[in-house]
Amino acid sequence: MYRELVLEHARAPRNFGELSDATHEAVGHNPLCGDRFRIQLRLADDRLEASRFDGHGCAISTASASLMTEAVTGIDSLQARELVDTVLETLADADDDRPLGTLDALKGVRAFPTRIKCATLPWHTLRSALTDNNKTVTTE
Ligand code: ZN
Repeated sequence: MYRELVLEHARAPRNFGELSDATHEAVGHNPLCGDRFRIQLRLADDRLEASRFDGHGCAISTASASLMTEAVTGIDSLQARELVDTVLETLADADDDRPLGTLDALKGVRAFPTRIKCATLPWHTLRSALTDNNKTVTTE
């Protein structure tokens, strides 16, 4: 089921395309796979009113970005930063069983260590967008 959710988001990503009135953005690049995304946010009163991404990447990175934009839209920036930490910790530790809702779908990637950077790239990029506006991050 989780695998199907990843494939479904990769096929039909949510919140894909430019956010014309973005207040924050960052670009992330994973040279190992060629994934490159821009994450754009619109923050108002410290709340993420909108979150979109564009660029290109493999199925895993695309699904991760799609699931991420759904998860962070409507929460505040501190909650978003905490979620980034939680997801990155969970993806790095196969024994971490914390429930993450729909983001549980990403845990399947832990069985494929070479692909973990594909899944984490959008999250590193989101953190950069929330903190250092307009900076490019790379997984290498
Ligand atoms: Zn990838």
